[in-house]
Amino acid sequence: MTKKLRVGILGATGMVGQRFIQLLENHPQFEITALAASDRSQGKSFEEACTWRLAGEMPAFVKSMTVAAPRPPLECELIFSSLPGDIARESEGSFARSGFPVISNSSAFRMDPDVPLLIPEVNPGHLDLLDAQRKNRGEGKGFIVTNPNCSTIMLALALAPLHVQFGVKSVIATTMQALSGAGYPGVASLAISDNVLPFIEGEEEKIEQETLKILGQVNRAGIEAAPMAVSAQCHRVNVSDGHMAAVRVTLVDTAVIEDVKDALASFSAIPQKLQLHSAPKYPIIVRDEADRPQSRLDRDAGNGMSVTVGRLFPDNVLDYRFVALSHNTIRGAAGAAILNAELLIATGVLV
Ligand code: NAP
Repeated sequence: MTKKLRVGILGATGMVGQRFIQLLENHPQFEITALAASDRSQGKSFEEACTWRLAGEMPAFVKSMTVAAPRPPLECELIFSSLPGDIARESEGSFARSGFPVISNSSAFRMDPDVPLLIPEVNPGHLDLLDAQRKNRGEGKGFIVTNPNCSTIMLALALAPLHVQFGVKSVIATTMQALSGAGYPGVASLAISDNVLPFIEGEEEKIEQETLKILGQVNRAGIEAAPMAVSAQCHRVNVSDGHMAAVRVTLVDTAVIEDVKDALASFSAIPQKLQLHSAPKYPIIVRDEADRPQSRLDRDAGNGMSVTVGRLFPDNVLDYRFVALSHNTIRGAAGAAILNAELLIATGVLV
């Protein structure tokens, strides 16, 4: 058996940090050897510092580990970060400068021109940016790779096959986002009970900007943004896990609905070909029932790594419309970062 890569998790006590621990418990390539969180938790055992919020028990192997500060060095060879955006830049940057590869969920570095904003099925070629990153930042073995915002991953995955086959000219996405997307304790119960909140700070801008970078092309100057217009409106809804988006698209080329459906349903890419451990067999699952996807029924599809698309129809205003759904802390966060790391190993970037 090959030796597992030792990993540290920043923000280990949070919603995404706990998902990392759950998903890495029996992972064949990674073992958790360091956990870090805020000064509220530092110096405590993980069991003492963390109230476990996921279904099932806190994995036994983390209980006695001592929570450290999110500062280098940590006893590990790779960093997974799920720190809040405002402190991630300082912390993740210092790990990269100290020679640690950093795979981040946070927004801090996503739009930096020399940082890959990676979805392995969509833009593995963006890893070429790491050459420029090393030149610009001189970080030796250290580097930063980010995964997109949780709603953006779902949207970009659903758009990718359409963009490759027909070109996407414009997109309107209206999201309905789960409570766990706000971390713990997140939104006050009195604010969200019997209610929908039509504002999630920074979310609309992230979807509009990140989608263009992800679907863009690498050139000598960095990433040339995809030539499409993206409009997003985001809402917080009273659902525990699973972000949904009602999406309308206009395509560059004319396409009949059977071809649009086939492009989505037959989508398969490098992670599937390489059979990466966390890669779902079907990155996009297309459902024909009139009332799917639904958050509770479809968020765990493909072990939480598939995007489920339904309600695909011609649209009276743009060309087509559909509804997409995915698990925000798995495909939208921890699972996405782990799949990124698996791709980095498979392509020899991480050794
Ligand atoms: P969360 O539940 O609030 O957890 C935040 C984590 O960061 C906790 O471990 C917390 O430690 C730690 N932390 C907070 N302030 C800190 C500080 N000043 N110094 C060091 N550590 C600190 O948040 P989350 O939902 O897991 O989100 C984490 C990150 O992932 C955010 O950047 C978020 O935008 C991103 N993200 C989240 C989702 C999602 O669906 N939730 C999806 C994609 C991306 P303590 O327990 O010690 O306070």
